Amino acid sequence: MRSKPARSMILPRMVVTGPGVLEQLPAIIAELDIPERGLIVCDSNTLQIAGNQVIEYLEAGGHPMKKIVIEGANIEELGRVEAYSDQIDFLVGLGGGRPIDLAKQAGFNKNIPFISIPTAASHDGFGSARASIRQEGRKTSMQAIPPIAVVADTSIISKAPRRLLGAGVGDIISNQTAVLDWKLSEQKADYSEYAAALSEMAAKLVVDGIDKVANGSEEGVRLVVKALISSGVAMSIAGTSRPASGGEHKFSHWLDLHCDNPALHGEQCGLGSIVTMYLHGGDWEKIRNTLKAVNAPINAKGLGIDKNMILSAFLNSKDIRPNRLTILDTTSSEKIKDAVLATGVID
Ligand SMILES: [Zn+2]
Repeated sequence: MRSKPARSMILPRMVVTGPGVLEQLPAIIAELDIPERGLIVCDSNTLQIAGNQVIEYLEAGGHPMKKIVIEGANIEELGRVEAYSDQIDFLVGLGGGRPIDLAKQAGFNKNIPFISIPTAASHDGFGSARASIRQEGRKTSMQAIPPIAVVADTSIISKAPRRLLGAGVGDIISNQTAVLDWKLSEQKADYSEYAAALSEMAAKLVVDGIDKVANGSEEGVRLVVKALISSGVAMSIAGTSRPASGGEHKFSHWLDLHCDNPALHGEQCGLGSIVTMYLHGGDWEKIRNTLKAVNAPINAKGLGIDKNMILSAFLNSKDIRPNRLTILDTTSSEKIKDAVLATGVID
């Protein structure tokens, strides 16, 4: 048997979760031994939600802060964030997605440490190594490194719109089908037993605790946040997004590329998982019921996307990253269509 190649992993050095943890920011930065000057990347909404508070805590802790209020995660805004790089020692990304993507990518390109502060738990990007940046109007996924620290204040995340938490459940539940897809190519060098187990466990804990999540309690929100962080860690351990990204993610990426008004990433991935779990012969109804419990979409109508578009996305998702083998790549179009109908995703 051939031995597997050596592998290195880059992980966040600190993960701090709980109500009111933003207050600990100066202590966290001291612990990480990061120098003085910071730049906070936020949007107008997250500036109000927590940005001003973060600036206040950090400045009181001796860190002169600059801020940049962004309008979208695109290449132009990335250039704007990077333009500050000579004057700062660390970056803070504050938001649900876009400010975090920009700060992560700018930090990677300019070799500046980046701290991730999520204001919502809608996908696993706040702890992962990948950034989603728009180029010519379409989302593209770029390789960066994970944040040096994740500071997730659950009293702030609990106040985010409930739809975002439902999307987070969708993104985390899709780990189950991502791992099944990964196992299809188990003999390949990138398969990691540990990463697969961690990813599956994160999803299982959320499924088992879905009642707490559904009632929006701090405990339930914390469960989703921790699971999404674990998902990012699983990807870092594996050195690939495979533990948390299979056919259901290819389905979602296809929609992002071809749909003028795609739904949220986690909503699309969660719905994608219903169908791919059906194709794997697993308990797809459990996935559907879990999504239903948090009012996440379980059919084309709920997603707000035309059913022909949804069907096309399932049938053509093999065109996305064709070297990534998933159940959607190995199943005939006829069987995929049967699955989309049988699961009630389209009628
Ligand atoms: Zn995802």
